[in-house]
Amino acid sequence: MKALQYRTLGAAPEVVTVADPEPAPGQVLLRVTAAGVCHSDIAVMSWPQVPFELPLTLGHEGAGTVAALGAGVTGFQVGDAVVVYGPWGCGTCPPCAAGKENYCVRAAELGIRPPGLGAPGAIAEYMIVDDPRHLVPLDGLDPVRTVPLTDAGLTPYHAIKRSLPKLIPGATAVVIGAGGLGHVGIQLLRALSPARVIALDVSEEKLALARSVGAHETVVSDERAGARVRELTGGRGATAVFDFVGAPPTTATAGACVAMEGDVTIVGLGGGTLPVGFGALPYEVNVMAPYWGSRGELMEVLDLARAGSVDVYVETYSLDEAPLAYERLHAGKINGRAVILP
Ligand code: NAD
Ligand code: ZN
Repeated sequence: MKALQYRTLGAAPEVVTVADPEPAPGQVLLRVTAAGVCHSDIAVMSWPQVPFELPLTLGHEGAGTVAALGAGVTGFQVGDAVVVYGPWGCGTCPPCAAGKENYCVRAAELGIRPPGLGAPGAIAEYMIVDDPRHLVPLDGLDPVRTVPLTDAGLTPYHAIKRSLPKLIPGATAVVIGAGGLGHVGIQLLRALSPARVIALDVSEEKLALARSVGAHETVVSDERAGARVRELTGGRGATAVFDFVGAPPTTATAGACVAMEGDVTIVGLGGGTLPVGFGALPYEVNVMAPYWGSRGELMEVLDLARAGSVDVYVETYSLDEAPLAYERLHAGKINGRAVILP
């Protein structure tokens, strides 16, 4: 089969032919129908070393139809349309038992890694899913517009859900970076809270997308952006700031615009940090850096999509064009999410 692989440290990914995978006992083989392209892959491909072996088939957002069941698998049938929950864990430790496999305490020790981030990923004609509990039925949803919800939806959903008790009428939520995750985050905020949403980005095209998906206000993300948010909130600042860039200038903006008792959630992997200590931030600000989300939360995100509350803006590419999709994402040229159709 054809697959998109990261083969050489620091080099661009390549479309190659690899052996067709076969499901071992307990595993499920999917014929991939759609696979999302995430900026995290670009971060991983810039690391001087990776904590897994190369070559690696990329893609941690996957949708497909069940092509074959390994021995002993029940609950799914060949032909079922599903998406893949990506942050695989052991399934039995306390966080996994609560569905929070993203925080599995044994994954490292057991060598369990997410598809596309250590295990063979979704940007291929077929993929292996290690356990049927990592499949969520699409139940009528379109795989192409739904596949980004497995990360670009689930990650902001988990982040936003933690701040919902503070996002009461009169509150303000700031979204920094209206890209793949951010443009879904804006829609989730609008669906789940009465907060006023202010989106920040460096690109006018992304700010236009932010407005079209529900941002009340947009602000150019520069060194004055924090002050601009304070102005727009009558000096109080933002109740919750979701930083989907996480680079030094954006974490600084987050610190500059958050309100007393507010939340700063750093989702992006841009290497920015935020000093915490008396006087460094307004009183009682919470700063967190979450990773992905739980199995139950993925089901909740799909239910929101079924209710029409989130609609991912997608650009589609063939498997042969997948390297181009990564180039365009790296150059900041993807509006919404790029989805590969293998
Ligand atoms: P993306 O490239 O689709 O979106 C990034 C957006 O940020 C773009 O619209 C870009 O124009 C904008 N941007 C860049 N610099 C900016 C700045 N200085 N100020 C404001 N906006 C700026 O990326 P994505 O796939 O949405 O991923 C976003 C980030 O989230 C990445 O760092 C990714 O690695 C990370 N991520 C984290 C998790 C997690 O679990 N913590 C999960 C998925 C992705
Ligand atoms: Zn991702």
